[in-house]
Amino acid sequence: MDSTKTTEGKKKGPTILDVLNANLKPCYDAILDHLETQDMFRLFATCKTIHDIYYCVFNVDPHLRPFFDDHTLAFRQAMADHNLIVGGSVALKFFSRDKWPTKDLDVYTSSRSSLRETSKIFTNAGFKFEPFPWQSRTVDSSLTSVDSARVRANMRANMDAADGRIQQAFSYGTYTAPQIRDVYRFNNEKKNLHIDMILTNGPELLAIIEGYYATYIMNFFTYNRAYNLFPYHTILQKEGFQTYSDLSEKRMNAMLKYLNRGYKITNYGKFHECKLQCPIRPHRRVGDTFTWTVDLGIDGIRFPKNPMQVENCTFGVKGHRSYKMWNNRRGFSAIPCLRINTHTLEHKKLEYPLLVDNRVSPGSWKNFLETMLAKMFAQEEHMTEFEELADPYLQGEAIINGRQQYFDKDVAAYYKFWYQYIMPRETLWSGQYPMLQ
Ligand SMILES: [Zn+2]
Repeated sequence: MDSTKTTEGKKKGPTILDVLNANLKPCYDAILDHLETQDMFRLFATCKTIHDIYYCVFNVDPHLRPFFDDHTLAFRQAMADHNLIVGGSVALKFFSRDKWPTKDLDVYTSSRSSLRETSKIFTNAGFKFEPFPWQSRTVDSSLTSVDSARVRANMRANMDAADGRIQQAFSYGTYTAPQIRDVYRFNNEKKNLHIDMILTNGPELLAIIEGYYATYIMNFFTYNRAYNLFPYHTILQKEGFQTYSDLSEKRMNAMLKYLNRGYKITNYGKFHECKLQCPIRPHRRVGDTFTWTVDLGIDGIRFPKNPMQVENCTFGVKGHRSYKMWNNRRGFSAIPCLRINTHTLEHKKLEYPLLVDNRVSPGSWKNFLETMLAKMFAQEEHMTEFEELADPYLQGEAIINGRQQYFDKDVAAYYKFWYQYIMPRETLWSGQYPMLQ
């Protein structure tokens, strides 16, 4: 008897490897739908073949397709070309694999021209611009007058508080937050879906990190990566910590909506006990070991010319005040809301304003980065003509007349150095953070 026959003879039915195959979506969906996220990861960890379906399970396209149909790839290309960020419930659902229906897509940009370009894709996908009362009929004219229109509308809203529509429009989500300049709504009546294009003041991520009211919604994706900033609490515990103490009616409603979807607001509490896995640390970076980061498939997407380096963004998180007790030991008292702090650094050598953690001075990341940027800038100013001729052709567009135009790409290397050698070690912070004790 030859050996192949023996194997065939033994193989009676399909094995788990056959069922959990990347090409058999209905099969693995049926199984994974019954697994909690942590169990799914245990299953993925068992074997490489099973792990291959990870990229099929964590795919943004099925989340975007209800909005864009055949224009999904065009939208993702726009995300790449214009550094767009998607946040809100679509981003949470991507990680949680929850099944509740989504009616809105939140897209963030700080650039008017990007907004203008992207709105064309919305139109192609059957969406219509639906101006708020302070906006003009078209996207173009609303964008031209965005600042003056907002001032006027603010005045009008104050004068005429009885006008329910203006009031309602102004309490739009986080619209009243200082990080947001204006919101452009695109509606698809047939599908009963809308897209909110949020024009930010300063970095897009600031509107998410500082503008969102609770940690469970601090999830977002770019054209090639998805980030969940508080995965332990958001996904495994299905809980969030409030970051705003005063909640508008709109935020209260949003909170209720998420409560109905199974996400509760938890009190951070005096003795926040989860230790090692807890993403609430003094210093955080987007994409650090406490972030759940997922690489997205980029088949068919052209690499962007000027990608924004979101993983250079850092912030600080604080949930306690600490004080010295009578016996010289540390006491802690929780503050009512988590405090997430970051600083927007603008520099003529940075193409995009950068969010930098500014706490713990001296030795803060902000101090260090500013010093390095100043040094690089000074060095370039003193370059001789001979040095300018060094290698302008080798580095293409990045070098203008022998000078490097922007240093955004170098920031990661400086950060690595700061993190390794200069950052106050977490043990030094333990006096302020009970989970580090
Ligand atoms: Zn925790």
